[in-house]
Amino acid sequence: MSCLMVERCGAISFESPDQNALCIHMLGDGSLRGQTAVLSERRGSYPFIDLRLLNTAVHPGEIGTKKKVKRLLSFQRYFHASRLLRGPSPHSSLHLLDEDYLGQAAHMLSKVGTWSFDIFLFDRLTNGNSLVTLLCHLFNVYGLIHHFQLDMVKLHRFLGMVQEDYHSQNPYHNAVHAADVTQAMHCYLKEPKLAGYLTPMDIFLGLMAAAAHDVDHPGVNQPFLIKTKHHLASLYQNTSVLESHHWRSTVGMLRESGLLSHLPTDMTQDIEQQLGSLILATDISRQNEFLGRLKSHLDSDDISLEDPEHRHFMLQIALKCADICNPCRDWDLSRQWSERVCEEFYRQGDLERRCDLEISPLCDQQANTVPVIQIGFIAFLVEPLFQEWTRFTDGSLLAECMLGHLRKNKERWRQLKCREQDTDTPAPGTEQQGTGTGVP
Ligand SMILES: [Zn+2]
Repeated sequence: MSCLMVERCGAISFESPDQNALCIHMLGDGSLRGQTAVLSERRGSYPFIDLRLLNTAVHPGEIGTKKKVKRLLSFQRYFHASRLLRGPSPHSSLHLLDEDYLGQAAHMLSKVGTWSFDIFLFDRLTNGNSLVTLLCHLFNVYGLIHHFQLDMVKLHRFLGMVQEDYHSQNPYHNAVHAADVTQAMHCYLKEPKLAGYLTPMDIFLGLMAAAAHDVDHPGVNQPFLIKTKHHLASLYQNTSVLESHHWRSTVGMLRESGLLSHLPTDMTQDIEQQLGSLILATDISRQNEFLGRLKSHLDSDDISLEDPEHRHFMLQIALKCADICNPCRDWDLSRQWSERVCEEFYRQGDLERRCDLEISPLCDQQANTVPVIQIGFIAFLVEPLFQEWTRFTDGSLLAECMLGHLRKNKERWRQLKCREQDTDTPAPGTEQQGTGTGVP
């Protein structure tokens, strides 16, 4: 096997020097030179895997056949060089920024607990370092560095790894989403109903899980990995495949950075397990399981926050809320997230179409508009969860504010959907046979 250099850029990409070549990288879009590539990854025992669909030999149109796709879905292990050897990340060039920008970012941090916090602006002001900057600030604010006696160099190293392993070319599942979820988590940790009971360990776990919950997300969903027989799907037996990968990657980074190496082994093992339990709770297919348990607890009024298990459950719920809170933000922020997540769905759909795979639900741009996807998302997933969260908080100011945004945003998507239908409906007398609205 020949060995090549692959330069990581932290992204999933579909690079195609000609129309017949297609690469999907779990990590880094890289510039592939030649036929094969090997990188080194010394992070625990979970090397990153690139899914490559390479077809340089077939004629245009042939890539669509099932036979070709099956043959071409080979999995390649790329072992990335340790960051210790690679030197500092180019993303850590905060000093290159105009001091005005840093001043504005610092000013934004003074209001990090407000629900209108604009994470997109913050990310621009920090030159794409929103996740590292936010986490360092929150660890300081909560006194976690002092409490756990954390080494600042190791903390920076760990957070830099996490941020870098998000794929910046994913429209949605990137480091800004992680920073957004972390900021929301911070708001939830301050809820009066919860804050008084939380230990430093609870806060540490909540923030860490939020920051790392989607790390190395490939920009495609679990059904895609299963139907393309990605090795991660078989490794995790087709269950919580992505979430398991996010968790195990986080554990690998924790160990490589040595962030917790000064703590007793049983403590670090407990942290790793609890991080897993929190990150795995973000699997949206387990929504009903968590929602049912939350409803049951609230109905019987038996949540006891002195109980560590109950606190852990509420941290799971808080993280789930933070992960899908986009429709509860101001319209301007919420709309941007909606467009980004749909763009990611559509990219997957385009890829499936090119590979003659069945197009996944919501991924067909012709059949699913942004308003239609958002209305369904809000009605079936977001609203039921946030109604129960509001009940848990006894209708806190923040919870009511979020529900208010949610209802307004849903109404706006409804109006946009109606407008689209009006636009797509032919004027009387101009109907043509076989034309459709494109909206289900
Ligand atoms: Zn997420």
